[in-house]
Amino acid sequence: MAETLDPEDWAEMRRVLHAAVDDVVDHMAGLRERPVWRPMPPAVRTLPEEPLPTAGMPIADVLATVRDVMLPHATGNAHPRFFGWVHGSGNAAGVLGELLAAAMNCNNGGRDHVGIYVERAVLAWCRTIFGFPAEATGVLTTGTSMANLLALRTALVAARARHPQAPLDAFTAYASTEAHSCILKAMRVIGFADTSLRLVPVDRDFRAIPSALAALIDGDTAAGLIPFCAVATAGTVNTAAIDPLAALRHVTAERGLWLHVDGAFGAMAVLSTSHRASIEPVADADSLSFDFHKWLHVPYDAGCVLVRDGAAHRDAFALRPSYLETQGSGPAGGSPWFCDYGLELSRGLRALKVWTTIKAHGTDRLGRQIQKNIDQAQRLAALVDASDELELAAPCSLNIVCLRYVAAGRVGDTDAIVARLYDSGVAVPSTTVIGGNKVIRVNITNHRTEDADLELLVLAVVEAGRALSVTRAPD
Ligand SMILES: *Cc1c(COP(=O)(O)O)cnc(C)c1O
Repeated sequence: MAETLDPEDWAEMRRVLHAAVDDVVDHMAGLRERPVWRPMPPAVRTLPEEPLPTAGMPIADVLATVRDVMLPHATGNAHPRFFGWVHGSGNAAGVLGELLAAAMNCNNGGRDHVGIYVERAVLAWCRTIFGFPAEATGVLTTGTSMANLLALRTALVAARARHPQAPLDAFTAYASTEAHSCILKAMRVIGFADTSLRLVPVDRDFRAIPSALAALIDGDTAAGLIPFCAVATAGTVNTAAIDPLAALRHVTAERGLWLHVDGAFGAMAVLSTSHRASIEPVADADSLSFDFHKWLHVPYDAGCVLVRDGAAHRDAFALRPSYLETQGSGPAGGSPWFCDYGLELSRGLRALKVWTTIKAHGTDRLGRQIQKNIDQAQRLAALVDASDELELAAPCSLNIVCLRYVAAGRVGDTDAIVARLYDSGVAVPSTTVIGGNKVIRVNITNHRTEDADLELLVLAVVEAGRALSVTRAPD
């Protein structure tokens, strides 16, 4: 038989795949028993030094290496006491989708096959979740960074079509001082100098001030510039603040600006009961970015952008030379193609793990998990408030609690406290700077977290703080 890459013995392949499934289930079911994170051992650190394999290795041995060296040393975000940055914690239904998607090996850039319909189904569900109209287009992305880039380019192309003579540096965009760094990155990628992104000041709750946005826009317009887009954030990365979306929509609509909402994790709070009302105004935005891999717990990576004006979205990206022509029917049919709505031509069936996650759990259950985390953040904030040795560094508005160790004239060394938590494997929060102070930042986007995990975290911070605090300089 001629050589291919298929297994010589499908029965052996079946045994190895079954064994892999057993390893995966053991891994997921036993998460709580293991440290959240551990320092990378030599077997991991030397991986990049391994020579290129010119000859293959039995697939069972490949699995053994992944099981022994890699599975135990993942990021840790699946663990119930992972509270760093904003990470989703994954879910078994998503793992199923990822396995099946790899076997199907669809290219979702376009053409006519089931993968396209799965992605369209997911996008239709998202339009329903966020109240976007049926004409709105969208595309699944690696994450919100890419989704924001696609949205900003779409806004810019739409504005330039209205001002064809104006040079690029006449256009200006707006985002609050709390906006994610990927907004500035996106501005750079679409050709702007950093100064073209105007920073809108925030209030005491870290929310963009609508009147300040209006003043900035009006000032720029008076100076002959062309304000084209304002970015609101639903759930800022530092403190999970939700910008006043309806008021910002009002300011931008009056002045003819595109309103984009970065809802990376916070937008999904529309599925909660407590925060539905503050997120619902995203339905009036021109575009919205969000992640499935954060608060919906789809395995990395999966994000999305929705664009109200589908024609504007297509105009920003469609480009089809003859070798990519669509036909009415057959495998080259299936118009519209997703490659016309983003940068990528070849794209995986990322949509399937989103589809299996939403199908298996339903939005009611997913929403209950989001609400649970919101309630847990309030509980943690109350524990911090009640402690003589801890203080809140920012108001808790959604799912993020920022705190400091401060006791009787002593202030904790935040970096050292967090390093001790990491090394002990007990919990993984992250840090940020609020009001000039380095603080411990606890983000709860984790369906496995229980209240007892928060109590354990508080105990561990207090214990570390007692050992690692210094005398506070007089204010
Ligand atoms: C996480 C995050 C991003 C970036 O999203 P990625 O999926 O990591 O690319 C952007 N904005 C906010 C508010 C975020 O929390």
